[in-house]
Amino acid sequence: MNTRRDKPGAPLPLVAAYVSVAAVLSLTHAVTTDQNVADWSYTVSVALFPIACLLSWRYLRPARSIWLMAFSMAGSFLVASIAESVGGEESPLSLSIVENLALFVGQLLLVAALIACVHRRRGRLVSSTLADASIVAITGWMVVYVWLVQPTIENSSDPVAITMLEGLYQPLGIASVFLLALLLYAETFRSPAVWFLAGVILFSLVGDLVYALEAAGSTAGHQKFGDIFYLLAYLCGGGVLLHPSIHSLAERIPVGEPRSSTSRLLFTTSCMIVPIAILALGEPESTSDRIIRFVSALAIAAAIITRVVVTLRAAATAHRKVLAMAQHDALTGLPNRVLLSEQITGALHHSWRSNTRPTVLFIDLDRFKNINDSLGHAVGDEVLRLVGRRLRLTLPDQVIVGRVSGDEFMAIDPNARSTGDAMAFADKVLSVFREPFHVGAGDLYVTASIGLAVANSVATAEELHRNSDTAMYRAKEAGRNCVAMFDDSMHERVAHRLQIESALHRALDRRELHLYYQPIVDVATTNVVGFEALMRWQMSDGRIVSPVEFIPIAEETGLIVSIGSWAMLEALTQLDNWIRDGVCGPDATMSVNVSPRQLRDPHLLSAVSEALLRSTISPEGLWLEITEGVMISEPEQALAVLRRLRALGVRIAIDDFGTGYSSLSHLRRFPLQRIKIDRAFIAGVAEDESSRSLVRTIIAMADSLGLDVVAEGVESQGQLRVLAALECSKAQGYLLSIPVPGDAMRQTLEDMRRMAATARATQPVPEL
Ligand code: C2E
Ligand code: MG
Ligand code: MG
Repeated sequence: MNTRRDKPGAPLPLVAAYVSVAAVLSLTHAVTTDQNVADWSYTVSVALFPIACLLSWRYLRPARSIWLMAFSMAGSFLVASIAESVGGEESPLSLSIVENLALFVGQLLLVAALIACVHRRRGRLVSSTLADASIVAITGWMVVYVWLVQPTIENSSDPVAITMLEGLYQPLGIASVFLLALLLYAETFRSPAVWFLAGVILFSLVGDLVYALEAAGSTAGHQKFGDIFYLLAYLCGGGVLLHPSIHSLAERIPVGEPRSSTSRLLFTTSCMIVPIAILALGEPESTSDRIIRFVSALAIAAAIITRVVVTLRAAATAHRKVLAMAQHDALTGLPNRVLLSEQITGALHHSWRSNTRPTVLFIDLDRFKNINDSLGHAVGDEVLRLVGRRLRLTLPDQVIVGRVSGDEFMAIDPNARSTGDAMAFADKVLSVFREPFHVGAGDLYVTASIGLAVANSVATAEELHRNSDTAMYRAKEAGRNCVAMFDDSMHERVAHRLQIESALHRALDRRELHLYYQPIVDVATTNVVGFEALMRWQMSDGRIVSPVEFIPIAEETGLIVSIGSWAMLEALTQLDNWIRDGVCGPDATMSVNVSPRQLRDPHLLSAVSEALLRSTISPEGLWLEITEGVMISEPEQALAVLRRLRALGVRIAIDDFGTGYSSLSHLRRFPLQRIKIDRAFIAGVAEDESSRSLVRTIIAMADSLGLDVVAEGVESQGQLRVLAALECSKAQGYLLSIPVPGDAMRQTLEDMRRMAATARATQPVPEL
């Protein structure tokens, strides 16, 4: 296929042949004294121009519209040249008119082609370029008229029409210089085609000037001199057409910093001074002169008015666009947070008069991060677009649909009247997610968690927004893909949470955090073999906050990193003290809980090493407890960190085993040494056969993988006996000891030893 890409340019010999022939003809024209030879060489030179056009189309395929203008222009100039050589010195009026008209049309086409290039290159409003070019051209016309045309009409015997037509070239020439300046100014890289174009315009302008001066009687016998400039212009024209960079004339320049148009504005406005000066300073010679000056002044006024109108319109359009951009989301085209907020306010104002209860739904896509992470951001964007479109198409027109941010959308029903209406509205939104979304990667099921807030008489837009957001979090907690309706208790929860969050920031500095320790016992011997450090927070008002409540907040805020490092050092120092004080044996270990957020912290490794170093506990003395979740959500990253920790000599335990979804393959892949069976399974182990067989399976599996097993939450002798019969290695729980402060451990261990001795004496191990 003949495409522009596989035709890099006209064959070099052809270009060379064209240039040589054109140059020889120009030279012949310049040196010959024979008028016939001069005319002949001139006409053939001009005839070469349409040929260059055809070759250009054949080999380079430039932009069609620009090429068509160039070709028509070549045709016009050829017609003019033929008319001139046929007419000779004493050309009849009709031929003279044809000649001048064809030249005028050719010049006009040049200006049109330049406007097309400027428009294509700069992508600006063509009307402003056109208006600027007209102002410059009409100003040029007035100068040329007063300076050249008017004297010519008085001096020469040519008909007025011819003189006027001749006089029109220069202004068009000036307009083309102006357009060329715009083109050159726009270029970051000026291609050869642009330089050739500059040659065309400047040489033809000089040629026009030589001719005009001749006609006005200022010079004589310089016509041939003028023709040489024209021939040079044709030569450059061939260059434009045959150079491969012709494509650059019609290509959009890359969008960068908008260029200042100050110099263009300055030039255009200063042009307006010229007609004023001409009208004010010069006296018209005759009535027709007066009329021409007046009409020209009117034309320039019209061009100025057009320019002003175009500029104002462009400013208004730009303003509208900026406003739309500021109020709409670029990806989905839906209203953004700013506009949504205004819309909620509008709905609330309306509700005061109409007795409605505007309802706001906060829609958050479930696990959208997974889509982005696994399928890429392009698919993620596509899903967001589709969700936005489907919401818009499914919901009635009076419902306002917008995108708040990321994967959060909002739908507002300004006309809901009751809670029933609101629930029906929410159901409708949920139904949007029942069908899969067709994206490039295939069909995707996406669900959403929806928070619903209904306006009361004193609600503000901000409150409604916040309440629906709060309710959405409740929907997430309730298992996602559902609707939660806001009520005031949620507010209290949020306020409470916020209070905890801000107090937690100061807790470490104020020494409000403490560690309690729960012994871990060898089931067979009932000896204490280690401890688990569990954090407690005693707030300044004496209230004790459970780690179940504050650890997730510490995770979310990232505070867990500093808190966790502190806990590590504190726990190991405590173990070292106990060993030194003889509270426990030198082989006792310390288990410290490590949250997923800590595993992502690049300083975790150094924090662990430092704690080991400062406490002088050997790495084997430390167990790190992680949950199954970390093996699932970011397996690769977790694996890398755990391997490095393992390389330190520290051991790793899976906490709350059985509550996550980890598989055997995870257990095999990760560098683990211990499983802690969640207390949910231990609770039923004494009475319930299914719990028992589950625990039996876990123990067997751990054995086969060479992992140590700890049973968590042992609360009764019965459970302990069953665990002993199942050959569970270790146990931990309230039966043995609740978590106690460090300084109570000596007493706790003594109590445990006494109790174990009594238990051994009274209870036999059951047969299972
Ligand atoms: P976990 O690591 O599974 O700790 C065991 C939890 O079970 C502790 O709750 C402990 O007091 C409780 N427990 C122990 N024996 C029994 C029993 O026989 N029956 C019942 N019902 N519960 C028992 P605690 O201290 O409230 O800690 C809760 C969770 O908070 C911990 O679960 C752990 O995930 C987290 N946590 C505690 N301290 C820290 C810490 O320093 N860092 C991190 N990242 N998480 C911690
Ligand atoms: Mg634990
Ligand atoms: Mg646990």
